[in-house]
Amino acid sequence: MKTHALDLRDRRKSFGRLEEQVFDVLVIGAGITGCGIARDAAMRGLSVALVDRADIGAGTSSRSSKLIHGGLRYLAQGDLFVVKEAAVERRAVRAIAPHLAQTMPMIIPLRGKTDQAKMVAAMVAYEKLGGVAPEEAHEVWDQAELHAREPRVRSGKLIGAVVYPEYVTDDFRLTLANARSAASHGACVDTYARVETLLLEGGKAAGAIVQAALPGEDDAARVRARVVVNAAGPWVDAIRRLEDAAAKKKLQLTKGIHLVVRRERLPLDNTVIMATPDRRSIFAVPRDCFVYIGTTDTFYPQAEYWPGITSEDFDYLLLPASAMFDIEPLTGNDVVSAWAGLRPLLGAEGKSPSEISRRHETMEGPGGVLSVAGGKLTSYRSMAERVVNLCEKRLQRKSNPPPTAEEPLPGGDFAGGPEKLRSQLESLGLNPADSERAARLYGAEALEISSKDAGPAGEVRHAVECEGALTLEDYWFRRSARARFDVGPPSALIRAAEHMSALMGWSEDEQMRQIERCRNLHAEELKARAETGNQ
Ligand code: FAD
Repeated sequence: MKTHALDLRDRRKSFGRLEEQVFDVLVIGAGITGCGIARDAAMRGLSVALVDRADIGAGTSSRSSKLIHGGLRYLAQGDLFVVKEAAVERRAVRAIAPHLAQTMPMIIPLRGKTDQAKMVAAMVAYEKLGGVAPEEAHEVWDQAELHAREPRVRSGKLIGAVVYPEYVTDDFRLTLANARSAASHGACVDTYARVETLLLEGGKAAGAIVQAALPGEDDAARVRARVVVNAAGPWVDAIRRLEDAAAKKKLQLTKGIHLVVRRERLPLDNTVIMATPDRRSIFAVPRDCFVYIGTTDTFYPQAEYWPGITSEDFDYLLLPASAMFDIEPLTGNDVVSAWAGLRPLLGAEGKSPSEISRRHETMEGPGGVLSVAGGKLTSYRSMAERVVNLCEKRLQRKSNPPPTAEEPLPGGDFAGGPEKLRSQLESLGLNPADSERAARLYGAEALEISSKDAGPAGEVRHAVECEGALTLEDYWFRRSARARFDVGPPSALIRAAEHMSALMGWSEDEQMRQIERCRNLHAEELKARAETGNQ
């Protein structure tokens, strides 16, 4: 078997495994929170089951802004603990998965001397608190340097910029890497496995009934566990209500959207911060041949996998971008893809969406279920460590945190840094753009994937045999991110479907259904494009 292989095709077998033992820990939800917890627990030698009603990372953990924040933005909220934690955690992600934490300068434009003094003071405080390495300290660019380094920024009314390095990741792939690492340490991982009922014995949670959730399936497994962890992100309250029908709502969901435009329409080399009329900050982040612009922050009533994107959302992001950059104004037609995600924040009476703290909290229900809500992608590892410490306490074991900040994640074990990896890929015949993409998504594993088959064929095989993909959407939207960052011909989706069909044993009808689903989801995300006032 290949290292870290997660092949979930034999559904009977994997559902069967869920019934074979009483697990130490059952984790509900395979977003970054659940996958981080499962990895930490499995590395401590606990027996772990990790189940998700959809794909790994299908909820919020594939719809973030994809930044491993150093924590500067939390300084303004006075959340010093979060600032410190974020700074430490981003170093940890860089150590275990360098390909998933690549440095990208973040430009904060300065409008005047007062602006500059405040910003520099905040930077100095942040660098001190977070123990930022000297080579990652901020710089101040004057107007001429800003113009030279990022010529599309309208710098006429600016005096310059403060610039500091942020790390850019692929949120889904970080989540997947944790799930695969958990599996290689013995965790039973099952996707399209929906928790429908919690098992309560003497009023105490003792596991769950898990229903197979792919179309046409009716298998169910009775999973028994000593500790049940609810890491269901935006659905945390729904699981809490399975434990206690009268449980009060704890979450306040807010929606954030991102729009992707071609880089030739918005030629940037760095991430640039922009101000909105309601005095929030949004940003434009270059990625491959694209730039994505995000994000909004508005209350959203219920948990959904595909929250609607409105024409107001489009305008909210496109108008400030058109004002900030010296380009032909962006219109809805420039947007090639979009995504929306829901922040599972802990409700705070009277606060606006952006004011609600991003801290996490662990709640214990009457049946003993540990529910984890709030938090960030950035600090998933330390959050997981604290939750598993609680699990060990419950299991009456001495707390023994494993080396989660040292052991590389799948793909994270390569010497010489991303630069060397990219040149090795080029020597295999990949062009520079494809090498860059492959190195960033797959890390060291890119060498094996690309040496066998060029293009989607190798990726699809790897997705199915090693990354637990079960549907075309799993590959197209999440594992490869091609739904959002690919300008290949429309036939690329069909070719990917053909490769996947052969591996999955789909009929022609099923293959067509899988393609249609991807096309419909993509069209739905862009539906509001035609109605934007910014045409
Ligand atoms: P999720 O990823 O939603 O995972 C929950 C899982 O539970 C889902 O996969 C779901 O399918 C599963 N589930 C639900 N019900 C059941 C059930 N009955 N049975 C089994 N499984 C179930 N953080 C950062 O650090 N940096 C950023 O740049 C950043 N940007 C963000 C931008 C936006 C727009 C948003 C929305 C969030 C952003 N965040 C960012 C925050 C971060 O993305 C989230 O905190 C994190 O992804 C939450 O992960 P989670 O695992 O708790 O939830």
